Amino acid sequence: MSNTDRLNTLLEEDRTFEPPESFKAQANFNDPSVYERAANDPEGYWAEQAEYLSWFKPYSEVLNWNPPHAEWFVDGKLNAAYNCVDRHREGPNKNKAAIIWEGEQGNSQIFTYDMLGREVDKAAHMLKQLGVNKGDRVAIYLPMIPELPISMLACAKIGAIHSVVFAAYSAKALNDRITDTEAKLLITSDGSRRSGKILPLKDNADKAVKDTTVETTLVINNIGPDANTAWNKALDVDWGTLKQKMPTTPLEHEEMDAEDPLFILYTSGTTGKPKGIVHTTGGYLTGVNHSVRSIFDLKDEDVFWCTADIGWVTGHSYSVYGPLSAGGTSVMYEGGPAYPERDRFWDIVEKYGVTIFYTAPTSIRTFMKWGHEYVEKHDLSSLRLLGTVGEPINPEAWMWYHKYVGGEKCPIVDTWWQTENGSAMIAPLPGITTTKPGSATKPAPGIIADIFDGEGNPVEPGNGGYLVIKQPWPSMLRTVWGDDQRFKDSYFGDYDGIYTSGDVAHKDKDGYIWILGRDDDVINVSGHRLGASELESAIVSHDAVAEAAVIGRSDDIKGEAITAFVTLKERAQSSDELHDEIVAQIVDQIGKIARPDEVIFTASLPKTSSAKIMRRLLRDIAEGKAVGDTSTLEDPSVVEDLKEKYAEAE
Ligand code: ATP
Ligand code: MG
Repeated sequence: MSNTDRLNTLLEEDRTFEPPESFKAQANFNDPSVYERAANDPEGYWAEQAEYLSWFKPYSEVLNWNPPHAEWFVDGKLNAAYNCVDRHREGPNKNKAAIIWEGEQGNSQIFTYDMLGREVDKAAHMLKQLGVNKGDRVAIYLPMIPELPISMLACAKIGAIHSVVFAAYSAKALNDRITDTEAKLLITSDGSRRSGKILPLKDNADKAVKDTTVETTLVINNIGPDANTAWNKALDVDWGTLKQKMPTTPLEHEEMDAEDPLFILYTSGTTGKPKGIVHTTGGYLTGVNHSVRSIFDLKDEDVFWCTADIGWVTGHSYSVYGPLSAGGTSVMYEGGPAYPERDRFWDIVEKYGVTIFYTAPTSIRTFMKWGHEYVEKHDLSSLRLLGTVGEPINPEAWMWYHKYVGGEKCPIVDTWWQTENGSAMIAPLPGITTTKPGSATKPAPGIIADIFDGEGNPVEPGNGGYLVIKQPWPSMLRTVWGDDQRFKDSYFGDYDGIYTSGDVAHKDKDGYIWILGRDDDVINVSGHRLGASELESAIVSHDAVAEAAVIGRSDDIKGEAITAFVTLKERAQSSDELHDEIVAQIVDQIGKIARPDEVIFTASLPKTSSAKIMRRLLRDIAEGKAVGDTSTLEDPSVVEDLKEKYAEAE
């Protein structure tokens, strides 16, 4: 068998999972002809989907495409806060839970649509009072507290553009984003609670607003006296005090053009300097609303928990705008997954009867590392659908998720998408698609994606290449804030009018798409292109391994030499035998070509705050270079540890 054949064997995972009959019968989308219908007339399909939103004024044209600039639902007028909150207050969902919030200490707050609407109105009054107007930028640096979605929706209500910055980011990262967006207002809190500790948000915020355009810092009292924050009279306004002075009357919605920006959000910075991605009102909302109904099969009775922090796009789309635009119930948790015990997530699922659960492969691998006994302590029978996002999921992790969390009855939707895409792009429809562990399956209806070879031709099944999107879609980014040239170069520089994702993927014999990772993470050994994720999957399938990151470092002879960084499950110990077993496993599953030159055992891997492995930092370490942009790194001390480990291993 040639190396390529072996690679294909790994990719042609032979386990398949059909949607259970009972799921199919009740699914929002269960007629397979939807794919063909959408492919034959994408604009007509999206126009149909836009009908699920409430428009103040209908659009005159579905799409105006001036590559690479798209306008969707031209001249249509709507408001995102009206669609996500107020329209539900007018109907039978008035007293339905919109947001269920759980604090780390086990305290909870439930906001019905009507209550949420009142909070959003008050916050919108506050923004107005502080001089924020349509088109102004508001930076939001908050932990996972209810005021976070409330602030976002208040911005949307008055037409201000929000830019949420992860609460885990440093003062420097916040300052960069404030400077780039020229925000007028910053909303933050005195602190945040995480795994029993208090994080000093306000201190960071104070550093970050120095010499910026920020005129006011609106501060939420989240922790109280323990946070021990300094107060700057010239800049700081207390949220609670100002709120009390606000009228109780509702505020009129700003009539927004479909193309008016709704928010700016910076990418995770996995590959370099983050980009300020601009999303609009009509297209973005249509995209997320469509995906919760189709990919997530959201119904009125569902309790949807997307565990992502709202500081990244998954939280924007699947904790806030997606479920709320569809009148769903969204769960939010402020705290760590191991607090007070490692069963906290499952405790929350049981407590609120979560029906749809959406998380990242890295979390699943952590749960695997901890062991399934934590899952088994709880009754998870309310769950009916599971999702994953953020990185390729290793088949082993997929199987574990299916067995222990899904009780072998819940379909799994592996959703591929990017900050730039706004909503899930490649993913199964759980009532239609047969899934394969490790594959994001097929483009969602209305999404015209393919895999190109180096010459820009679609690859035949059984081959790999560059993942591209051939036609515009409603929730696509419109530009990079303040840098349209970067937008054009980064995404449309390769082919005219075709979006380049920067990811590489493989198409199997059934046309299923297997995301291999980022183009930059592809390892080129003696002319063979290996995806980091394939090698990592082979390593992670070893029983002792929790996580792995594989990189190619430049090598005079081979082009690239393979270095594997490996973290072990808690009960496992690193040893020479284990080292050899891991090497043997890779050789066995992929081939000699993939034999790693180094296997380095480490306690942790460098990750962004959105929980993605930053392989570029590992490459820098292995090549002895100064490490690049670390502003979005979750725990900067990891880099020093790794440098030491690497030096020891050499
Ligand atoms: P930056 O663009 O700044 O380098 P980033 O790409 O990590 O950061 P995001 O937009 O948060 O920022 O992540 C999108 C990327 O995450 C995708 O390009 C892909 O590499 C990866 N990804 C997301 N979902 C999946 C999935 N289901 N399977 C495989 N990879 C995924
Ligand atoms: Mg990216």
